[in-house]
Amino acid sequence: MKLHNTLTHKTEEFAPIEDRHVRMYNCGPTVYGDQHIGNYRTFAFADILRRYFEYKGWKVTQIINITDVGHLTQDDIDSGEDKIDVMARKMGWTAIQVAEHFMKRFYEDRKTLLMREPARFTRATEHIPQMIAMIQKLLDRGVAYQVGGNVYFDVSKFPGYGKLSGNTLDAIKAGESGRVGDEVKEKRHPADFALWKTDAKHLMQWDAPWGRGFPGWHIECSAMSTAYLGDTFDLHTGGEDNIFPHHEAEIAQAEAATGKPFVKMWMHARHMLWDGKKISKSLGNVILVEDMIKKGYTPQEIRYVLVSTRYSQRVNFSWQSFEDARKALGYIVEFRRRLQDEAKKPAGAGTLDLEKHRLEFEARMDDDLDVAGAIGVLQSFRNDGNRAIDQGLGGDAAKKALELLERLGDVFGILAPATEEAVPAEIVALANARLEARKRKDFKAADEARDKIKSLGWAVEDTKDGMKYKKL
Ligand SMILES: [Zn+2]
Repeated sequence: MKLHNTLTHKTEEFAPIEDRHVRMYNCGPTVYGDQHIGNYRTFAFADILRRYFEYKGWKVTQIINITDVGHLTQDDIDSGEDKIDVMARKMGWTAIQVAEHFMKRFYEDRKTLLMREPARFTRATEHIPQMIAMIQKLLDRGVAYQVGGNVYFDVSKFPGYGKLSGNTLDAIKAGESGRVGDEVKEKRHPADFALWKTDAKHLMQWDAPWGRGFPGWHIECSAMSTAYLGDTFDLHTGGEDNIFPHHEAEIAQAEAATGKPFVKMWMHARHMLWDGKKISKSLGNVILVEDMIKKGYTPQEIRYVLVSTRYSQRVNFSWQSFEDARKALGYIVEFRRRLQDEAKKPAGAGTLDLEKHRLEFEARMDDDLDVAGAIGVLQSFRNDGNRAIDQGLGGDAAKKALELLERLGDVFGILAPATEEAVPAEIVALANARLEARKRKDFKAADEARDKIKSLGWAVEDTKDGMKYKKL
């Protein structure tokens, strides 16, 4: 399997350090606001990666962090600055209550979108001792320095700084001239970043050897990932905006503290546009999971949209993408329904080369997660499969085709549990009879079939994507 590594700028063979066991860390949300459709595309990418490893039969230890250390002051809450939910202010919540509110919403959205549960969600507020220990190690090793109650990482002491993002220290220094402020005055180099800060106005504070304060954002991820995945682990993902400074800083802290390589493979999802525009509150195009559900899209349809393009491509979505996904997925769902019926019949004359489709699917996925190509393989599997069914597939061949379709669909999480859609064979036969009758303009026979379906407690709708069955 080949994946594109941001660290080496190359698409390279991926093999976990421990055979068939991937240790993966996904940068999670800052829980001071809702996650929007663009964020969920990045999380869906990590979910697909995990599902595909599991499809291969590999074990995955997945950690997702929750940044719940709110960099908030009471002034922020009072003024209702952009990051705080209006409701939270009205309810008089504390910072941690705001965080927990949005954390729960994140968990619920993930469940709605059928994302697999990680081994652990690591909350920053529950790992302060690990962060303090790592900061102390960095001070002991002389790669960090203290100014009053603040501790900074000294980038000039870490020769590898810039290896992920390509931002050299000289370039940063040139770009930073003219900036003022306390932090700038305290820092030895403009790229130095805070590991620990004291600020009396900050709402979350913990005791530390350097004074009561709070950790910097970057140290959270270095401390939590190594705590659960080891000093060196396989894979770290995030959005493209995480590359610099966040992930650059994570590497510097972890490698300077442990003296070992931090992460083998770094993967970053590109950003998503909505109707050709950046997603932002000011443009009023922040789409939430609940907005998609309210519009009547199923979790499977939403997933089909989110995963249908490769993570490394910048994509542009709109409500039209959802309509397109509904249609495309409808064909696959209908194919599954036909296979379910066919599996109950005796073997027929039709043949279907399952191995070819499986290998093509894997070849696309092994090529740096070419999901668009893999979905294309699913659709051609459907074409070939429908042709085979028309010739009479039946028996074991149909059962095996159904099994393969379920397995491949499961990599994307785009097929609802089969039981929900199990339509009795008699209903399907009647619906087909009705369709045939309509085709030959025998409306009397068509109406009779429809009434019979109704008397058996079902309804059939003709949609532009084929027949839809509904239990009355
Ligand atoms: Zn992170």
